[in-house]
Amino acid sequence: MIPSPSPSAEGPETPICSAKGCREAAVWVLAWNNPKLHTPERRKTWLACEEHREYLAKFLGVRGFLKDTVPLAEWEPPQGG
Ligand SMILES: [Zn+2]
Repeated sequence: MIPSPSPSAEGPETPICSAKGCREAAVWVLAWNNPKLHTPERRKTWLACEEHREYLAKFLGVRGFLKDTVPLAEWEPPQGG
């Protein structure tokens, strides 16, 4: 599945890539955890477009923070906070 740019679809409901300066719609969720700051079950999330998924995953991966990479369509936020 190849995401296509859709400039008219922007809105508060559109998740945007977390990469600095990127305005692309996110298609991936990167779940991560910094053991120095977070309890083990805590998950922080970054959103990534197709282009930045690898970059962000690598950024987290080299630090040992990355826990999961999930397609945005399949991402289920943790219930109950
Ligand atoms: Zn991006």
